[in-house]
Amino acid sequence: MDLPKLAIAALGGTVSMQASKPGEGVIPTVSGESLLASIPGLETLARVTVETLGLLPSASQDFEFLLSVLAWAKFQVEQGASGVVITQGTDTLEEAAQFFDYLWPHDTPLVLTGAMRSAAQPGADGPANLLDACRVALAENSRQRGVQVVMNGQIHLARSVRKTDSLALQAFSSPNVGPVGLLLEDHVCYQRPPDPRPLLPLPQQTTHKVAMLEACLSADTLLLENIVALGYDGLVIAGFGAGHVSPDWAKEIEHIARKIPVIIATRTGSGSTARASYGFRGGEMDLIRKGVSMAGFVCPRKARILLWLLIGCQQQEQLERYLSGDTAFNVPTTGF
Ligand code: GLU
Repeated sequence: MDLPKLAIAALGGTVSMQASKPGEGVIPTVSGESLLASIPGLETLARVTVETLGLLPSASQDFEFLLSVLAWAKFQVEQGASGVVITQGTDTLEEAAQFFDYLWPHDTPLVLTGAMRSAAQPGADGPANLLDACRVALAENSRQRGVQVVMNGQIHLARSVRKTDSLALQAFSSPNVGPVGLLLEDHVCYQRPPDPRPLLPLPQQTTHKVAMLEACLSADTLLLENIVALGYDGLVIAGFGAGHVSPDWAKEIEHIARKIPVIIATRTGSGSTARASYGFRGGEMDLIRKGVSMAGFVCPRKARILLWLLIGCQQQEQLERYLSGDTAFNVPTTGF
């Protein structure tokens, strides 16, 4: 029987980390080939190709790097891959997953995974996560689900997943909706059917900048006052509660929103922003009147990725529709 083709790329992160000397801390040194050696038996499931595209802590990635990884992943599909797996650091995994999901035009699964414990630690989770990710990427029922994150036996949609613990093995969750599936013995089980997702064209430019600021008690307005002059093209606020800021911030935001797109998301970690509940100055009704877009369930970091991508393809006027999850306007992506 002809085995399906599976493409794996290693980008770095704890899953690729080990210490060069005792006591010095771990750094990314483990290649994709070595990661693959940690899961013998995969060759009975697929014809595997593996590449090391980076050895980075995930905080060192940037959007240009992710665009080059995306081009690699698309090429693998064009070459006949039935599934694509990317291993990377968990610190920015949710952002990378969302970035890819907005730009992934294929039905073929693209699965991201990593590890919370490095290879030398007792109970290292990298090999199990990688094997699970490969199973998910190869499963027929994973098709048409866009980009997914597989960690600790759970499958999460890119748009819902967040890193919600800094060091625990169970570091990822999908607030509001829960994981979309799980690994049960050898089976890839989904608890919800695939649903439509918004797609964006590839950015035509990458030099634009979107700032992100978190509202906090008794905060001054110095950074806000200078955001436009500093050359930012968009602003995301991680707001209080259902999308609120202080009156001083609201005043500054009104000026900013006349010049560049401004999104307010919630800093709480789950739940949605409101639209029609609070009427005080700095409340969501006031901010909407001032021209601000409410992020809904989209978290601040993912709202920033959306805005960056929209500005990159000159479609910022579509921001509200994308934030509302309107998928009726999906556009085909062109080759990168
Ligand atoms: N805990 C992180 C990881 O899983 C640390 C480093 C990084 O994100 O690259 O990889």
